[in-house]
Amino acid sequence: MSTTSEHVATQDLLQPLQPPKRYLFGPGPTMVDPRVYRALSKPIVGHLDPYFIQVMQDVQELLKPVYGIQNGSTLVISGTGSAGMEAAVANFVEPGSKFAVFANGYFSDRLSEMAKRNGANIGRFEKAWGETFSDAEAADFIRREKPSVVGYVHAETSTGALQPGHAICAAAHDAGALVIGDCVTSLGGLPVEFDKTGIDIAYSCTQKGLSCPPGLSPLALSQRAMDWLRARTTLSRSWYLDLKLIHDYSTVSHRYHHTAPISMFHALREALMVIAEEGIEKRFERHRRAHRFFVKEIESMSLSMHVPEAHRIPTLNTVSVPKGVDDAKVRKRLLEGPGIEIAGGFGPLAGKVFRIGLMGPLATEENVRFFLQEFSKALKAEGYQS
Ligand SMILES: *Cc1c(COP(=O)(O)O)cnc(C)c1O
Repeated sequence: MSTTSEHVATQDLLQPLQPPKRYLFGPGPTMVDPRVYRALSKPIVGHLDPYFIQVMQDVQELLKPVYGIQNGSTLVISGTGSAGMEAAVANFVEPGSKFAVFANGYFSDRLSEMAKRNGANIGRFEKAWGETFSDAEAADFIRREKPSVVGYVHAETSTGALQPGHAICAAAHDAGALVIGDCVTSLGGLPVEFDKTGIDIAYSCTQKGLSCPPGLSPLALSQRAMDWLRARTTLSRSWYLDLKLIHDYSTVSHRYHHTAPISMFHALREALMVIAEEGIEKRFERHRRAHRFFVKEIESMSLSMHVPEAHRIPTLNTVSVPKGVDDAKVRKRLLEGPGIEIAGGFGPLAGKVFRIGLMGPLATEENVRFFLQEFSKALKAEGYQS
């Protein structure tokens, strides 16, 4: 009996990989350009090879217009967006220091949790999931808390709300604090304006707005952040994510720190070239247009958006689940029928919203139309009458 099932299992394991065809309309990962897949299949060289060092430098340069950074540095961390978050916290939040966080969703909670594990005292400004902080509220909070580091999430993927950073950064700088901005869902799909906003440490990932597979986390660091880091006398609690060591490997001495995932750098370089060729402003405008069209059509189906118009993330739409409809069943229909992936809500928004991403190649009117046709069919099959 057991030999038979082992035999069957082995046969299954020897079948070639055949991932199903999916339309990734969720919060990430997003659709990958065929050029990026081709880049992934290129032969690798060593991680200290001059060719690879050049690839790393190309990636750092190509990231600058996407982040909107001219005065600071860009770096790439081996790991997903959470590794970038962990690097930001482990290098800039010292044990015993005060970390003030704008808490209005799942990812600001994760940021807060990481700061706590790094020994910081946490000051939280809490709001309901989907709400944002006004300039005056943000400034008051920072004046009250007197933090060393402030954290906020630019595009909160769990809620669909966009938090502007200008006022947060201005108040933090007045208080002598550094600002960590989570740009995981915004980078590549909407303007981050790193310099203009005044962010000190931003991190992102490859698999959302950059339309690349997951695996790397691009960081941007202001001159202030770099100066602060150089002057830090205590050691970061993380060796692997120590930005002094990573900065030295990737931009100064090129001495071994860890073996960079070569193929992922190839992929990211290609994904950034795709973006550069389209033109960053054009790309942002295409995403805005797709979003406006999406919202107009959603409203004409008598559905409503979870976040007020002024605070929506153009690339990640939260649509309220209509009364009487089971969102999980709608999502299952979409996945099993046309092969469309979207996400549901979680935490306080469980069962209350659909999270629909319009990122990279999917951010066109034609693709929105295709999506809405299928979405509408799935909703109707689950009892929705508009
Ligand atoms: C996805 C996401 C993260 C975490 O990134 P991973 O690549 O999943 O580790 C962090 N913050 C935000 C806002 C995200 O959307």
